[in-house]
Amino acid sequence: MKKQYAFLVDTERCIGCFTCAMACRNYYHQVEGVVWRQVYPLSEEIYPHRERAFLSLACNHCENPACLNVCPVEAYTKREEDGVVVHHQEKCIGCGNCIRSCPYGAPKYNPVEKRAEKCSLCHERLDAGLNPACVQACPTDALQLIDLAEFERTNEVQYPAGYPRMEELNPSTRFVLPKTPKMVRR
Ligand code: SF4
Ligand code: SF4
Repeated sequence: MKKQYAFLVDTERCIGCFTCAMACRNYYHQVEGVVWRQVYPLSEEIYPHRERAFLSLACNHCENPACLNVCPVEAYTKREEDGVVVHHQEKCIGCGNCIRSCPYGAPKYNPVEKRAEKCSLCHERLDAGLNPACVQACPTDALQLIDLAEFERTNEVQYPAGYPRMEELNPSTRFVLPKTPKMVRR
């Protein structure tokens, strides 16, 4: 397998503090109402327990990205060297095709600049040998950068409950699911 950078989201570690989302927002000066990374509490139907659990989500840097395939002006590229799906804002004409086609809701519309935007995995930071801003900011290491070609854990999943199963896209993000604690009856 070729090198493919991805996010590992460890729900056992995530405390739902939103630091990752805020780091992303600050780093890229996202305008009000536009957030490239979101932190979602898992609903009780999916995680039936009083303790809370969260998923931190952004672009999945898919193997076969729907966004790239529908863009009429080639504003998306997938990097050969590490599989990162980069959105080139300067090329974007704001048609919204990518926003409508991504089943994960990753591209957002910026009403000020009148264009789409999304996580490009801080590719300029990767090129400088740094972690993405969200990964660096996470205080519990719940968000990590992994290379799927070398990744060796065995307790991760690609499609947690409630997450769209899109095998033709093959999203790269991996998740460690929360353990449901045993009920203790007294
Ligand atoms: S998650 Fe959406 S925006 Fe990101 S690469 Fe996949 S299709 Fe494109
Ligand atoms: S909104 Fe921009 S990036 Fe998305 S499909 Fe249209 S031109 Fe391409």
